[in-house]
Amino acid sequence: DAALDLIAEIPDFPEPGVLFRDLTPLFGDAEAFAAVIEALGAAVGYDVDRLVAVEARGFVLAAALGYARRLGVALVRKPGKLPNVAGRVDYALEYGQATLELPVGSVHEGQRVAIVDDVLATGGTVAATAELVRSAGAVVTGVAVVLELADLGARERLPGLPVHALRTV
Ligand code: IMP
Repeated sequence: DAALDLIAEIPDFPEPGVLFRDLTPLFGDAEAFAAVIEALGAAVGYDVDRLVAVEARGFVLAAALGYARRLGVALVRKPGKLPNVAGRVDYALEYGQATLELPVGSVHEGQRVAIVDDVLATGGTVAATAELVRSAGAVVTGVAVVLELADLGARERLPGLPVHALRTV
C-alpha cells in the first residue's frame, strides 16, 4: 500500500537500538493521509458511537476520522493538562512508567467506543486507555492503528479486544 510505504524508519530514536516508525511523511501527504483515514474508518466499523485517542498523533487521526464519520472524540491526556479528570491510570512503559487521564464528560456510560492510535507497540498505552474507557462505564469495541509492531506482544496485553492494524511489521 503506497500510503503506508511513506512511514519512515529512524534508527536509534529515541534511544540507541530502537527503530522509530515516523508517520510524519504520511501525515504530510494529502492523498496518503486521506487513504489512511478511510482505512481506519473501515477498521473501526459502524457499531461505534465515539472515538478515543491519546495525545498527540492519535488526536490527529481521531479528529479526522471523527469528522469524516460524524463521531465525537474523547481526548486522553498526559498528566497535568486537564482541569477536570474523570479517571486516571498509571501503567508501565518498557522503561519507567506513565500516566494517562480521561476528561470529565468525554465518554458516557453505555457508549461504544473505539480506540484509535498511530503505532501499537507493547500495547501498554491502549490497555491503559481501555481501562479508562471502561472505568467510565463505556464499552471498548476495538482498536484501530496504522502500524502494529508485532514482536512486542501487544495482543497478549489486550485479551478479548479486536485489534485492527493497517500494517503489521
Ligand atoms: P505502547 O504503549 O508500547 O504500545 O506504545 C504506543 C504508543 O507509543 C503510541 O501512542 C505511539 O504513538 C507511541 N509509539 C511507540 N513506538 C512508536 C514508534 O515507533 N513510532 C511512533 N510512535 C510510537
